[in-house]
Amino acid sequence: MSDIPKDHPRYASLMTRERIVEGVDIGITSQQGLVAQGRGECFDYLVGERTTTSAFLAEKVAVCMLLLAERPILSVNGNAAALVPEFLVEFSELVDAPLEVNLFHRSDERVERIISHLKQKGASEVLGGKGDARLSLDHGRGIVDSDGIYNADVVLVPLEDGDRCQKLVDMGKTVIAIDLNPMSRTSRAASVTIVDNVVRALANMAGLAIELKKLDLLELQKIVDEYDNGRILSEAVLEIRDMLDGMITDM
Ligand code: ATP
Ligand code: MG
Repeated sequence: MSDIPKDHPRYASLMTRERIVEGVDIGITSQQGLVAQGRGECFDYLVGERTTTSAFLAEKVAVCMLLLAERPILSVNGNAAALVPEFLVEFSELVDAPLEVNLFHRSDERVERIISHLKQKGASEVLGGKGDARLSLDHGRGIVDSDGIYNADVVLVPLEDGDRCQKLVDMGKTVIAIDLNPMSRTSRAASVTIVDNVVRALANMAGLAIELKKLDLLELQKIVDEYDNGRILSEAVLEIRDMLDGMITDM
């Protein structure tokens, strides 16, 4: 990794960028993943590179849904595997939801590389290698495991593709997306949209899981029932508008 001084004002962002570049170097992230990261960074700038109040609420509701689920699953793509492998492993244990590798630019080799990367970080089992079930999509995202995403009731999809997100919702699944762009098709289609950087989101969600596991099922359900994703998406857009308004008055 490059030598980035810790006191650099953009340290966190630059370190994230380094992780993605390293992901490409070791063959777990696709080159297209670099472009996706750039788009994410742009939206992160617009939300002020922080977890907003509305995003934190979405994170809380998402954790409740995963704790209530019968067959929850955490989908992992090449960017998530490069950026937050440790958090994915920790969070998967906390909410008792297996990890499944799912890639747009899929090759058996890259799937296996990501599986061993996650195992190196402490995962006991990682799904996605079987690929014995299909969602009707004409790209790699449609190849899934029957005992994983295909039969899951709640799916967490960090940095998802819009087509597949819609497909999972059409299959009757609850889909929790982490996507910094509140305008993407993924954000619009998901049941819960977390407009936050996957790095901050998963760290927050691990902390939330420890607290929320102390609640009983009825209390968790109440938090879920009170949630309105349309309102959260509108608030994400308003946060961006307020951020831009603030810049105009400062001129
Ligand atoms: P969609 O298919 O949903 O319309 P898209 O085609 O614009 O989205 P993709 O390339 O399919 O985008 O997926 C990348 C998405 O992930 C983008 O919306 C981008 O903002 C988001 N993203 C990239 N990096 C991060 C990150 N670190 N944290 C959260 N979201 C991110
Ligand atoms: Mg897309």
